[in-house]
Amino acid sequence: MDAAIPAGARYILQALAGAGFEAYLVGGCVRDLLRGVPPHDWDVCTSAHPEETKGCFAGQRMLETGLKHGTVTLLVGGEAYEITTYRTEGPYSDSRRPDFVRFVSDLKADLSRRDFTMNAVAMDLEGTLHDPFGGEEDIRAGVIRCVGEPDQRFREDGLRVMRALRFGAVFGYEIERKTAAAIHKNRAVLDHVAAERINGELCGLLTGGSAGAILRQYPDVFCQFWPQLEPLVTLEQNTPWHCWGGWEHTVRAVEAAPAGLVLRLAMLLHDVGKPACKFTGENGVDHFCGHESVSAQLAEEMLRKLKFDNKTRERVVTLVKRHGVQIPCQEKSIRRWLGRLGPEAFFQLLEVKRADGMGQACELVKDRLAELVKIRELAEEAMAQGQCLTLRDLAVNGRDVMAAGIAPGPEVGQVLGGLLEQVLSGELPNQREVLLERINGI
Ligand code: ATP
Ligand code: MG
Repeated sequence: MDAAIPAGARYILQALAGAGFEAYLVGGCVRDLLRGVPPHDWDVCTSAHPEETKGCFAGQRMLETGLKHGTVTLLVGGEAYEITTYRTEGPYSDSRRPDFVRFVSDLKADLSRRDFTMNAVAMDLEGTLHDPFGGEEDIRAGVIRCVGEPDQRFREDGLRVMRALRFGAVFGYEIERKTAAAIHKNRAVLDHVAAERINGELCGLLTGGSAGAILRQYPDVFCQFWPQLEPLVTLEQNTPWHCWGGWEHTVRAVEAAPAGLVLRLAMLLHDVGKPACKFTGENGVDHFCGHESVSAQLAEEMLRKLKFDNKTRERVVTLVKRHGVQIPCQEKSIRRWLGRLGPEAFFQLLEVKRADGMGQACELVKDRLAELVKIRELAEEAMAQGQCLTLRDLAVNGRDVMAAGIAPGPEVGQVLGGLLEQVLSGELPNQREVLLERINGI
């Protein structure tokens, strides 16, 4: 266990202990050591007050941004270590942040303010664990459990709702029954949590290996910040293509997508417009004509609300909008779509279509899934051969068109567009002489 602790952390614990203070590794890093996973950040808690901590490390690089809450950040060997004085928190009047923090002299009091038992663990240099709430046992059993009364803990800080779900999705742990009930009951506390903070937890959650299980069990939490999902959660779809309702189909599609954020978001949102487009035909079969565009509009609004960056938002919206296109399994159509979307979005779209298919009635989509594999192969071939896909790849440009006597203006673009069309469809080769000849013949 000792070997996993970096020299910087050891140095900090020794320096504080040498000055007569208690000091422990605490929280997520200890949890990860117990899980056998390398920690990605290291936190220290200590009986030293911030001024005393600063005194122990005089002359070293320090950041004081967290000083008000008792945190000194020390930079050792290129790594940042947060050293926080034992503290409890005053009441939370806004479910956002404590009204004040109070320094305490006791490790257990500090651990008791932490969110889940697995995070309320501390370890000293010898590897001795301080675990007053049974965190080690819960880690062994794969259980997420609040420290103290769950209702109160979620009401104090709404972000804990999202943290619980994120840990559940990433670690594949079960959320203990009382903790789970308190999450459902208190989900409205999320209304007081900043969009950026929900965003951060949601990204971790969606890319987690058990994201599907969390989506399946907590749709009400997702509807709290994205009420646009509500009609999808109860949507029934009576079509030969679907053996699941709207939410179960969505969850299965998320599970079937590779773990990247863009694809997971695209699957979560791809059918959000379906309820608004539902039309039941005379034979009782449901249709959802035009739902891709409605889903794209809603996705745009939802991603903006949670302050996703432009690049992520635009790509997700494109994938949602296009998720229903039928790409014929022919070279020329594939080249056209590759050119229109660009290779990255095109291959993502194939993943979206595959994941969407995986969430449908399996027998009926088998052929479509096989066709997607073929389309991918053809697209990879076209890319490997460096085939012409966009105006930029065309062997002639606007200057060539104007040299042939066509006046600058929209007509130049039209001529180039026409040539590209013929190259994409295979009528003309992408050879300069051939294309120049064609231009001169216009
Ligand atoms: P991660 O692996 O994402 O870093 P973490 O649990 O370490 O998970 P941090 O934000 O690094 O999360 O927080 C460090 C520790 O601080 C936690 O392990 C927990 O003990 C405590 N903590 C963090 N956020 C909260 C919170 N909202 N409420 C109570 N305790 C918290
Ligand atoms: Mg951490």
